[in-house]
Amino acid sequence: MLLSTCKVCSRLPSTVWINRQSEEDLPGPAYRLEGIPAEPPDDAIALHLRCPECGIYYRYEVSPGCLSHDVGLIRLLPGEMRAEGLIWKWRYNRLIRDLPPLLDGESTDLSLYAARALARHYLDNDLREGLEQLCRHPNWAIRRQAVLEVGEDEMTPHIALVIELLFDHAQVADAAKVNFRVFQEKSPLILKYGERLVGAFADRQMSYYPVIFLKHITQFFIELVDITPCVSPLMRFLMEAVGEESLCEEARHSLIRYVRASPANAQFFLKTFEEIVPPDVAATLADVRAAAQISLGR
Ligand SMILES: [Zn+2]
Repeated sequence: MLLSTCKVCSRLPSTVWINRQSEEDLPGPAYRLEGIPAEPPDDAIALHLRCPECGIYYRYEVSPGCLSHDVGLIRLLPGEMRAEGLIWKWRYNRLIRDLPPLLDGESTDLSLYAARALARHYLDNDLREGLEQLCRHPNWAIRRQAVLEVGEDEMTPHIALVIELLFDHAQVADAAKVNFRVFQEKSPLILKYGERLVGAFADRQMSYYPVIFLKHITQFFIELVDITPCVSPLMRFLMEAVGEESLCEEARHSLIRYVRASPANAQFFLKTFEEIVPPDVAATLADVRAAAQISLGR
């Protein structure tokens, strides 16, 4: 039986938390799950509950220490059910096979659950093609969920993929905002890989992707990621005027945000300016220079 047609699961959200002090109760269908306690116990507990209709598992959690959200019911992802030894491989494969239609189904809750479950499946099994496709799904919310799930993954084999996704999504301005916000929520990730990317770009000629990447870094993470190694490449990009005008504007704004962020940055920019900028192109960087001087209080 499909999750979407199960009489129990289709009426349960993927995740629900209730406050045990309030009059709130878990949704009615939750009490049909096998193994659910009639009353939440006083001690912290985590149980696996099984849907009698379709066999999906849930985690039932009681955490007495936490005041506001202390009874939770969370539908496990197929990968989690498998990892916990709750289901066999053939059952896992069945569950995965039934997920894609849910992505475009009527229930937002189920489509997001399917997005997470599929992303996890692709990550765990190194199925890059499926993962990329999911991260480019036409539905914004699904794409976001998939990218978030990738962002959760701290495993090295996926670093390259995460970085590429970051770039791919930067191709469309709106998508870039969405995805960079996602990564902002995951700032440990950007902290970990941001500097590495800055280092990689410092050795190359600036082009579309690095400029857009640095734009987002300076917009959202200027306090967290040091873009100093990319300062002179950005300056050269502007002096040589090889890019489109709008891209040059982005590069210029990134430099302005950089020099405004700290006097040390401003100082570094001015020093580099004296070293590499010939007088005939100095006008190209005049506004950044002015911003740097203001930042230094000159
Ligand atoms: Zn069910």
